[in-house]
Amino acid sequence: MKAAVVRQTPDGYADVVEKTLRPIKDNEAKLKMEYCGVCHTDLHVASGEYGNEAGTTLGHEGIGIVTEIGKDVTSLKVGDRVSVAWFYEGCGHCAYCVSGNETFCREVKNAGYTVDGGMAEEAIVVADYAVKVPDGLDPIQASSLTCAGVTTYKAIKVSGIQPGEPIVIFGAGGLGNLAIQFAKNVFNAYVIVVDINQDKLDLAKKIGADVVINSAEKDPVDAIKAATPDNLGAQASVVTAVARVAFEQAVSCLRPMGKMVAVALPNSDMSLSIPTTVFDGVQVAGSLVGTRLDLKETFEFGRRGLVKPIVATRKLEEINDIIDEMKAGKIEGRMVIDFTK
Ligand code: NAD
Ligand code: ZN
Ligand code: ZN
Repeated sequence: MKAAVVRQTPDGYADVVEKTLRPIKDNEAKLKMEYCGVCHTDLHVASGEYGNEAGTTLGHEGIGIVTEIGKDVTSLKVGDRVSVAWFYEGCGHCAYCVSGNETFCREVKNAGYTVDGGMAEEAIVVADYAVKVPDGLDPIQASSLTCAGVTTYKAIKVSGIQPGEPIVIFGAGGLGNLAIQFAKNVFNAYVIVVDINQDKLDLAKKIGADVVINSAEKDPVDAIKAATPDNLGAQASVVTAVARVAFEQAVSCLRPMGKMVAVALPNSDMSLSIPTTVFDGVQVAGSLVGTRLDLKETFEFGRRGLVKPIVATRKLEEINDIIDEMKAGKIEGRMVIDFTK
Protein backbone atom coordinates (compact mmCIF):
# COMPACT_ATOMS: atom_id res chain seq x y z
CA MET A 1 0.00 0.00 0.00
CA LYS A 2 1.01 3.62 -0.51
CA ALA A 3 1.80 5.79 2.51
CA ALA A 4 3.15 9.32 3.12
CA VAL A 5 6.04 8.98 5.55
CA VAL A 6 8.53 11.24 7.35
CA ARG A 7 11.76 11.41 5.31
CA GLN A 8 14.91 9.62 6.50
CA THR A 9 16.45 13.04 7.17
CA PRO A 10 13.37 15.00 8.23
CA ASP A 11 13.20 18.23 6.22
CA GLY A 12 9.56 19.21 6.50
CA TYR A 13 8.38 17.15 3.53
CA ALA A 14 7.03 13.61 3.12
CA ASP A 15 7.93 10.69 0.88
CA VAL A 16 5.18 8.60 -0.67
CA VAL A 17 6.40 5.01 -0.36
CA GLU A 18 5.18 1.42 -0.65
CA LYS A 19 4.67 -0.04 2.82
CA THR A 20 3.31 -3.33 4.12
CA LEU A 21 0.95 -3.22 7.07
CA ARG A 22 1.84 -5.58 9.93
CA PRO A 23 -0.81 -8.14 11.03
CA ILE A 24 -3.33 -6.69 13.50
CA LYS A 25 -3.27 -7.60 17.20
CA ASP A 26 -6.28 -9.04 19.04
CA ASN A 27 -7.50 -5.62 20.24
CA GLU A 28 -6.98 -3.83 16.92
CA ALA A 29 -8.86 -3.17 13.70
CA LYS A 30 -7.63 -2.71 10.15
CA LEU A 31 -9.03 0.14 8.10
CA LYS A 32 -9.26 0.89 4.41
CA MET A 33 -8.66 4.61 4.49
CA GLU A 34 -11.08 6.98 2.77
CA TYR A 35 -9.74 10.43 3.71
CA CYS A 36 -7.01 12.09 5.75
CA GLY A 37 -6.69 15.85 6.31
CA VAL A 38 -3.29 17.56 6.36
CA CYS A 39 -2.77 19.39 9.66
CA HIS A 40 -0.02 21.91 10.37
CA THR A 41 1.18 19.45 13.03
CA ASP A 42 2.15 17.08 10.18
CA LEU A 43 4.56 19.81 9.06
CA HIS A 44 6.07 20.05 12.56
CA VAL A 45 6.48 16.24 12.70
CA ALA A 46 7.92 16.05 9.16
CA SER A 47 10.45 18.75 10.15
CA GLY A 48 11.68 16.66 13.07
CA GLU A 49 10.67 19.38 15.56
CA TYR A 50 9.55 16.78 18.12
CA GLY A 51 12.30 14.23 17.38
CA ASN A 52 13.29 12.15 14.40
CA GLU A 53 10.28 10.07 13.33
CA ALA A 54 11.83 8.90 10.04
CA GLY A 55 9.68 6.36 8.21
CA THR A 56 6.55 6.94 10.33
CA THR A 57 3.32 7.26 8.37
CA LEU A 58 1.96 10.77 8.87
CA GLY A 59 -1.66 11.76 9.40
CA HIS A 60 -4.05 12.13 12.31
CA GLU A 61 -7.20 13.37 10.56
CA GLY A 62 -7.89 9.93 9.14
CA ILE A 63 -11.27 8.38 8.35
CA GLY A 64 -11.50 4.77 7.20
CA ILE A 65 -13.78 1.76 6.97
CA VAL A 66 -13.11 -1.30 9.15
CA THR A 67 -12.10 -4.29 7.02
CA GLU A 68 -10.86 -6.68 9.73
CA ILE A 69 -11.09 -6.93 13.53
CA GLY A 70 -8.92 -8.73 16.07
CA LYS A 71 -10.47 -11.59 18.05
CA ASP A 72 -10.97 -9.56 21.26
CA VAL A 73 -12.69 -6.59 19.59
CA THR A 74 -16.29 -5.97 20.64
CA SER A 75 -16.63 -2.22 20.04
CA LEU A 76 -16.28 -2.27 16.22
CA LYS A 77 -17.45 -4.44 13.37
CA VAL A 78 -16.43 -4.79 9.76
CA GLY A 79 -17.98 -1.96 7.74
CA ASP A 80 -17.93 0.67 10.53
CA ARG A 81 -16.53 4.11 9.61
CA VAL A 82 -14.05 5.36 12.25
CA SER A 83 -11.36 7.95 12.99
CA VAL A 84 -7.57 7.78 13.16
CA ALA A 85 -6.90 10.64 15.59
CA TRP A 86 -3.77 12.14 17.19
CA PHE A 87 -4.90 10.61 20.50
CA TYR A 88 -4.32 7.02 19.34
CA GLU A 89 -4.17 5.14 22.65
CA GLY A 90 -3.73 5.78 26.39
CA CYS A 91 -2.71 3.32 29.11
CA GLY A 92 -6.34 3.20 30.29
CA HIS A 93 -5.63 3.13 34.02
CA CYS A 94 -3.56 6.19 35.09
CA ALA A 95 -5.05 9.25 36.82
CA TYR A 96 -5.31 11.11 33.49
CA CYS A 97 -6.95 8.22 31.68
CA VAL A 98 -9.59 7.63 34.35
CA SER A 99 -10.41 11.32 34.98
CA GLY A 100 -11.42 12.37 31.48
CA ASN A 101 -7.98 13.79 30.66
CA GLU A 102 -6.65 10.86 28.67
CA THR A 103 -4.74 12.97 26.11
CA PHE A 104 -2.23 13.77 28.87
CA CYS A 105 -1.54 10.09 29.72
CA ARG A 106 2.23 9.58 30.11
CA GLU A 107 2.01 6.35 28.09
CA VAL A 108 0.05 7.99 25.27
CA LYS A 109 0.54 6.98 21.64
CA ASN A 110 -0.07 9.53 18.90
CA ALA A 111 -1.04 8.64 15.33
CA GLY A 112 1.25 10.07 12.67
CA TYR A 113 3.92 10.76 15.27
CA THR A 114 4.81 7.93 17.69
CA VAL A 115 2.82 5.31 15.74
CA ASP A 116 1.85 5.08 12.06
CA GLY A 117 -1.05 7.35 11.18
CA GLY A 118 -3.82 7.64 8.62
CA MET A 119 -2.09 9.11 5.57
CA ALA A 120 -1.97 5.73 3.82
CA GLU A 121 -4.25 3.42 1.90
CA GLU A 122 -4.63 1.27 5.01
CA ALA A 123 -4.15 1.84 8.73
CA ILE A 124 -4.40 0.03 12.06
CA VAL A 125 -6.30 1.41 15.06
CA VAL A 126 -6.79 0.19 18.62
CA ALA A 127 -10.49 -0.62 18.38
CA ASP A 128 -11.58 0.90 21.70
CA TYR A 129 -9.81 4.18 20.84
CA ALA A 130 -11.26 4.68 17.35
CA VAL A 131 -14.32 6.94 17.41
CA LYS A 132 -17.22 6.01 15.13
CA VAL A 133 -18.35 8.55 12.56
CA PRO A 134 -22.12 8.93 12.84
CA ASP A 135 -24.37 8.28 9.84
CA GLY A 136 -25.25 11.55 8.17
CA LEU A 137 -21.82 13.15 8.67
CA ASP A 138 -19.87 13.50 5.43
CA PRO A 139 -16.56 11.57 5.84
CA ILE A 140 -14.54 14.41 4.25
CA GLN A 141 -15.89 16.81 6.87
CA ALA A 142 -15.36 14.16 9.56
CA SER A 143 -11.66 14.04 8.68
CA SER A 144 -11.18 17.74 9.40
CA LEU A 145 -13.19 17.39 12.62
CA THR A 146 -10.88 14.55 13.80
CA CYS A 147 -8.12 17.04 14.67
CA ALA A 148 -8.94 20.63 13.72
CA GLY A 149 -12.52 20.26 14.96
CA VAL A 150 -12.02 18.45 18.23
CA THR A 151 -8.96 20.53 19.12
CA THR A 152 -10.74 23.86 18.77
CA TYR A 153 -13.94 22.62 20.41
CA LYS A 154 -11.86 21.45 23.39
CA ALA A 155 -9.78 24.65 23.51
CA ILE A 156 -12.92 26.77 23.71
CA LYS A 157 -14.27 24.50 26.45
CA VAL A 158 -10.97 25.02 28.31
CA SER A 159 -11.30 28.81 27.84
CA GLY A 160 -14.48 28.75 29.95
CA ILE A 161 -16.14 31.34 27.71
CA GLN A 162 -19.79 32.09 28.47
CA PRO A 163 -22.52 33.14 26.02
CA GLY A 164 -22.11 36.70 24.79
CA GLU A 165 -18.60 37.12 26.17
CA PRO A 166 -15.82 38.29 23.83
CA ILE A 167 -13.34 35.65 22.67
CA VAL A 168 -10.44 36.20 20.26
CA ILE A 169 -9.33 33.52 17.83
CA PHE A 170 -5.75 34.11 16.62
CA GLY A 171 -5.23 32.40 13.26
CA ALA A 172 -8.10 31.59 10.88
CA GLY A 173 -6.53 28.61 9.10
CA GLY A 174 -7.41 24.92 9.27
CA LEU A 175 -8.04 25.03 13.01
CA GLY A 176 -9.08 28.66 13.20
CA ASN A 177 -12.03 28.44 10.81
CA LEU A 178 -13.50 25.74 13.02
CA ALA A 179 -12.68 27.62 16.22
CA ILE A 180 -14.74 30.53 14.85
CA GLN A 181 -17.69 28.28 14.06
CA PHE A 182 -17.59 26.56 17.46
CA ALA A 183 -17.23 29.87 19.31
CA LYS A 184 -20.15 31.36 17.42
CA ASN A 185 -22.56 28.49 16.81
CA VAL A 186 -21.95 26.22 19.80
CA PHE A 187 -20.72 28.55 22.57
CA ASN A 188 -22.67 31.63 21.41
CA ALA A 189 -19.74 33.96 22.12
CA TYR A 190 -18.85 37.34 20.60
CA VAL A 191 -16.08 36.35 18.18
CA ILE A 192 -13.08 38.50 17.28
CA VAL A 193 -10.62 37.04 14.77
CA VAL A 194 -6.99 38.06 14.18
CA ASP A 195 -4.88 36.91 11.21
CA ILE A 196 -2.12 38.39 9.06
CA ASN A 197 -3.75 37.20 5.84
CA GLN A 198 -6.72 39.20 4.50
CA ASP A 199 -8.15 36.22 2.57
CA LYS A 200 -8.40 34.26 5.83
CA LEU A 201 -10.15 37.21 7.47
CA ASP A 202 -12.64 37.57 4.61
CA LEU A 203 -13.45 33.88 5.08
CA ALA A 204 -13.74 34.38 8.85
CA LYS A 205 -16.30 37.13 8.29
CA LYS A 206 -18.27 34.91 5.92
CA ILE A 207 -18.52 32.09 8.47
CA GLY A 208 -19.72 34.29 11.30
CA ALA A 209 -16.88 36.30 12.92
CA ASP A 210 -18.26 39.48 14.53
CA VAL A 211 -15.01 41.47 14.19
CA VAL A 212 -11.93 40.72 12.07
CA ILE A 213 -8.53 42.36 12.58
CA ASN A 214 -5.54 42.19 10.25
CA SER A 215 -2.53 42.23 12.58
CA ALA A 216 -0.16 42.79 9.65
CA GLU A 217 -1.81 46.19 9.29
CA LYS A 218 -2.54 47.35 12.83
CA ASP A 219 -1.87 46.57 16.47
CA PRO A 220 -4.46 43.90 17.26
CA VAL A 221 -4.32 44.53 21.03
CA ASP A 222 -5.67 48.09 20.73
CA ALA A 223 -8.24 47.03 18.14
CA ILE A 224 -9.46 44.14 20.33
CA LYS A 225 -9.80 46.38 23.38
CA ALA A 226 -11.71 48.93 21.30
CA ALA A 227 -14.12 46.18 20.21
CA THR A 228 -14.94 45.00 23.75
CA PRO A 229 -17.24 46.44 26.45
CA ASP A 230 -15.60 49.33 28.40
CA ASN A 231 -12.44 48.74 26.29
CA LEU A 232 -11.43 46.13 28.87
CA GLY A 233 -10.35 43.44 26.43
CA ALA A 234 -11.39 39.88 25.72
CA GLN A 235 -12.53 37.33 28.29
CA ALA A 236 -10.61 34.60 26.46
CA SER A 237 -8.25 34.04 23.57
CA VAL A 238 -7.39 30.88 21.66
CA VAL A 239 -4.14 30.84 19.68
CA THR A 240 -4.01 28.72 16.54
CA ALA A 241 -1.49 31.04 14.82
CA VAL A 242 1.94 29.48 14.39
CA ALA A 243 3.79 32.60 15.60
CA ARG A 244 5.23 33.63 18.95
CA VAL A 245 4.00 37.22 18.59
CA ALA A 246 0.39 36.02 18.45
CA PHE A 247 0.76 34.35 21.87
CA GLU A 248 2.05 37.56 23.40
CA GLN A 249 -0.76 39.58 21.81
CA ALA A 250 -3.24 36.95 23.00
CA VAL A 251 -2.27 37.63 26.62
CA SER A 252 -2.06 41.42 26.23
CA CYS A 253 -5.58 41.62 24.78
CA LEU A 254 -7.22 39.98 27.81
CA ARG A 255 -9.37 41.76 30.38
CA PRO A 256 -8.50 41.14 34.04
CA MET A 257 -9.19 37.49 34.92
CA GLY A 258 -9.20 36.55 31.25
CA LYS A 259 -7.73 33.29 29.96
CA MET A 260 -5.40 32.57 27.06
CA VAL A 261 -5.52 29.05 25.62
CA ALA A 262 -2.42 27.98 23.68
CA VAL A 263 -3.09 25.57 20.82
CA ALA A 264 -0.55 26.26 18.06
CA LEU A 265 2.92 24.80 18.37
CA PRO A 266 5.58 27.23 17.12
CA ASN A 267 8.97 25.95 18.21
CA SER A 268 9.71 28.88 20.56
CA ASP A 269 9.20 30.48 23.96
CA MET A 270 6.98 33.46 24.73
CA SER A 271 7.49 36.30 27.16
CA LEU A 272 4.96 36.78 29.92
CA SER A 273 4.92 39.72 32.32
CA ILE A 274 4.78 38.32 35.85
CA PRO A 275 3.44 41.56 37.44
CA THR A 276 0.67 41.82 34.82
CA THR A 277 -0.21 38.16 35.28
CA VAL A 278 -0.47 38.67 39.04
CA PHE A 279 -2.13 42.11 39.13
CA ASP A 280 -4.66 41.17 36.43
CA GLY A 281 -5.18 37.56 37.52
CA VAL A 282 -4.88 36.30 33.97
CA GLN A 283 -4.56 32.62 33.19
CA VAL A 284 -2.43 30.93 30.54
CA ALA A 285 -3.34 27.35 29.66
CA GLY A 286 -2.41 24.77 27.06
CA SER A 287 -4.95 22.55 25.33
CA LEU A 288 -4.12 19.34 23.50
CA VAL A 289 -6.51 17.82 20.93
CA GLY A 290 -9.48 16.22 22.74
CA THR A 291 -10.62 12.99 24.35
CA ARG A 292 -12.69 10.31 22.63
CA LEU A 293 -15.77 11.85 24.18
CA ASP A 294 -14.81 15.33 22.92
CA LEU A 295 -14.45 13.84 19.42
CA LYS A 296 -17.81 12.08 19.64
CA GLU A 297 -19.41 15.42 20.64
CA THR A 298 -17.53 17.19 17.83
CA PHE A 299 -18.83 14.71 15.25
CA GLU A 300 -22.35 15.28 16.55
CA PHE A 301 -22.05 19.07 16.08
CA GLY A 302 -20.84 18.36 12.55
CA ARG A 303 -23.72 15.98 11.86
CA ARG A 304 -26.20 18.62 13.00
CA GLY A 305 -24.59 21.21 10.74
CA LEU A 306 -23.53 23.60 13.51
CA VAL A 307 -19.94 23.45 12.22
CA LYS A 308 -19.09 22.88 8.57
CA PRO A 309 -15.39 22.36 7.89
CA ILE A 310 -14.13 24.08 4.76
CA VAL A 311 -12.47 21.27 2.85
CA ALA A 312 -11.09 20.37 -0.57
CA THR A 313 -9.81 16.94 -1.65
CA ARG A 314 -6.41 16.17 -3.16
CA LYS A 315 -4.32 13.16 -4.17
CA LEU A 316 -1.72 11.53 -1.92
CA GLU A 317 1.00 12.34 -4.47
CA GLU A 318 0.26 16.06 -3.92
CA ILE A 319 1.30 15.95 -0.26
CA ASN A 320 4.40 18.11 -0.70
CA ASP A 321 2.48 20.69 -2.76
CA ILE A 322 -0.04 20.87 0.08
CA ILE A 323 2.81 21.35 2.57
CA ASP A 324 4.19 24.23 0.47
CA GLU A 325 0.75 25.81 0.19
CA MET A 326 0.24 25.52 3.95
CA LYS A 327 3.62 27.12 4.69
CA ALA A 328 2.74 29.96 2.31
CA GLY A 329 -0.66 30.44 3.98
CA LYS A 330 -2.51 29.73 0.74
CA ILE A 331 -4.94 27.11 1.99
CA GLU A 332 -8.53 28.04 2.73
CA GLY A 333 -9.69 25.65 5.49
CA ARG A 334 -8.30 22.15 5.05
CA MET A 335 -6.78 20.02 2.28
CA VAL A 336 -7.89 16.40 2.61
CA ILE A 337 -6.17 13.48 0.92
CA ASP A 338 -8.70 11.33 -0.92
CA PHE A 339 -7.99 7.57 -0.99
CA THR A 340 -11.34 6.61 -2.52
CA LYS A 341 -10.34 7.13 -6.17
P1 NAD B 1 -2.77 26.60 9.35
O1 NAD B 1 -1.49 26.81 8.69
O2 NAD B 1 -3.91 26.05 8.57
O3 NAD B 1 -3.28 27.97 10.03
C1 NAD B 1 -2.44 28.88 10.69
C2 NAD B 1 -3.07 30.28 10.56
O4 NAD B 1 -2.33 31.21 11.36
C3 NAD B 1 -3.05 30.82 9.13
O5 NAD B 1 -4.33 31.31 8.78
C4 NAD B 1 -2.03 31.96 9.20
O6 NAD B 1 -2.30 33.01 8.28
C5 NAD B 1 -2.22 32.42 10.64
N1 NAD B 1 -1.10 33.21 11.18
C6 NAD B 1 0.23 33.04 10.96
N2 NAD B 1 0.93 33.97 11.65
C7 NAD B 1 0.02 34.72 12.33
C8 NAD B 1 0.11 35.83 13.21
N3 NAD B 1 1.29 36.37 13.55
N4 NAD B 1 -1.04 36.33 13.72
C9 NAD B 1 -2.24 35.80 13.40
N5 NAD B 1 -2.39 34.77 12.55
C10 NAD B 1 -1.28 34.23 12.02
O7 NAD B 1 -2.44 25.63 10.59
P2 NAD B 1 -3.45 24.70 11.44
O8 NAD B 1 -3.53 23.36 10.82
O9 NAD B 1 -4.67 25.48 11.75
O10 NAD B 1 -2.56 24.48 12.77
C11 NAD B 1 -2.24 25.59 13.60
C12 NAD B 1 -1.31 25.20 14.72
O11 NAD B 1 -1.99 24.40 15.68
C13 NAD B 1 -0.07 24.39 14.32
O12 NAD B 1 1.05 24.83 15.07
C14 NAD B 1 -0.45 22.98 14.72
O13 NAD B 1 0.67 22.16 14.97
C15 NAD B 1 -1.21 23.26 15.99
N6 NAD B 1 -2.11 22.21 16.43
C16 NAD B 1 -2.21 22.00 17.75
C17 NAD B 1 -3.08 21.06 18.23
C18 NAD B 1 -3.24 20.87 19.70
O14 NAD B 1 -3.78 19.85 20.11
N7 NAD B 1 -2.83 21.79 20.53
C19 NAD B 1 -3.86 20.30 17.35
C20 NAD B 1 -3.73 20.54 15.99
C21 NAD B 1 -2.87 21.52 15.53
ZN1 ZN C 1 -3.68 18.07 13.88
ZN1 ZN D 1 -2.97 6.68 31.04
